[in-house]
Amino acid sequence: MIKRRAFLKATALTGAGVALTGCSHEKNPLQNININKNKKIKIRLATSWPANFPIMGTGIERFAKRLEIISQHSLRVKVYPKNVLVPALGVFDAASAGAIDAYHSASYFYKGKNEAFNLFTGFPFGMTATEMNAWIDYGGGMQLWRELYAKYNLVPFKGGNTDVQMGGWFKKEINTLADLKGLKMRIPGLGGEVFAKLGVKPTLLPAGEIYVALERNVLDATEWLGPSLDTIMGFQKVAKYYYTGWHEPGSMLSLVFNQKKYHSLSDEHKMMIEMASNELNATMNSEFQAENTKALKAVEEAGAVIKTFPKEILMEAKKSMLEVVAEKSAKSADFKKVWTSAYTFLEENKKWTDIGIKAYLNSRD
Ligand code: CA
Repeated sequence: MIKRRAFLKATALTGAGVALTGCSHEKNPLQNININKNKKIKIRLATSWPANFPIMGTGIERFAKRLEIISQHSLRVKVYPKNVLVPALGVFDAASAGAIDAYHSASYFYKGKNEAFNLFTGFPFGMTATEMNAWIDYGGGMQLWRELYAKYNLVPFKGGNTDVQMGGWFKKEINTLADLKGLKMRIPGLGGEVFAKLGVKPTLLPAGEIYVALERNVLDATEWLGPSLDTIMGFQKVAKYYYTGWHEPGSMLSLVFNQKKYHSLSDEHKMMIEMASNELNATMNSEFQAENTKALKAVEEAGAVIKTFPKEILMEAKKSMLEVVAEKSAKSADFKKVWTSAYTFLEENKKWTDIGIKAYLNSRD
C-alpha cells in the first residue's frame, strides 16, 4: 500500500500528470494542417478480393476506415470488393484509365503487362517479408516500382505482406524428382514456371473450383497461401501432405493510386496515405503470423503431414529459377533492371539475415 501511494505521489511530482493535463489545453495539432475539411475527397478503391475476405480484404477495409479518421473525414475511402465495380483482375487497367481512383491487389497478377511486375510481389528462393520491406524502403525497390508504374499512370504503395507461404498440399508424398513429373498442380507465377521446368503441369483454376478438383483427382496438388487461408478452403480434408515453402517467401501486396488522382491531393493527404500504407503493410504481416499459428490446429486435427521438399528437388528448382530469370531478362529490359536490383540486394542482405535471425532461430531450437 505504501509503495502504491509513494508511486502515485512520485508520478504527480515528476510531471507525468502535469504533462497529461497540459496536453488537453493545447490546440489540436491536427487543426491547422492543409486538409480542407469542408472539401470531402472521394476515393473509389476496388480490390481483387471477395467481400470480407479474411486478412487481405479486412485489412484494406481497416486501412480505409483509419485513413478517413486521420484525415478528419476529408478523405472518404469507399472499398469495393471484386466484381462490384470491375472484375478482380481488372483493377490495374481501371485505375490506369482513371475509372477508379485506387486498388488493392498483387503486382504479379499483372505480369502479362510487364514481366518485371512479378518482382514487386516477390520471387522463388527470394526475400523474406523483412528483406522485401528493406529492399522497397531502403534498397531502391520503391523507386523502381514508382518509375515503372508511372508509365501506366499509377502510383504504388506497400499493401501488406502474406509472410512466407507454404509450398502447397499434395495428395501423394514427393520423394524424388520423378514424383513431380506430370503432376497437375495449381501454382501460379514464377513458382509455376519453375515447377514446369521440373515436369509439373501448372494448372490455373478459379479459387472456388480448386477444392473439388483436388477431391476428384483433377488436380494432384495445390498451393494457396498458408494455414490461415488454406484451412478455410478445406484443403486439409482432401490432401494429406503439406509442404513447406520455397516459391513465395514474403509476398507483398500492392496498394495503388491513379497518378492524376494522387497528385491532386495535398502533401498532407499524401503523407497520410503513405503512413496508412505502412501500417497496413505491417499489421497484415502480424495478422498472418497470428492467424497461421491458430490455423495449425486444424492442420494437425486433419492428420496432415508437414514435410519439406527433398534437397534434390530444391536444388533443381533453384537451377530452374535461374533459367527462368535468364529467359525473362533476355526478353525484358525492365525485368533485368528490377531483377538486378532485387537480387543484388538479397545477396548482400542474406549476410545479415544469416548472422542475425537465422542464427537466432537455430539457437532458439
Ligand atoms: Ca500463393
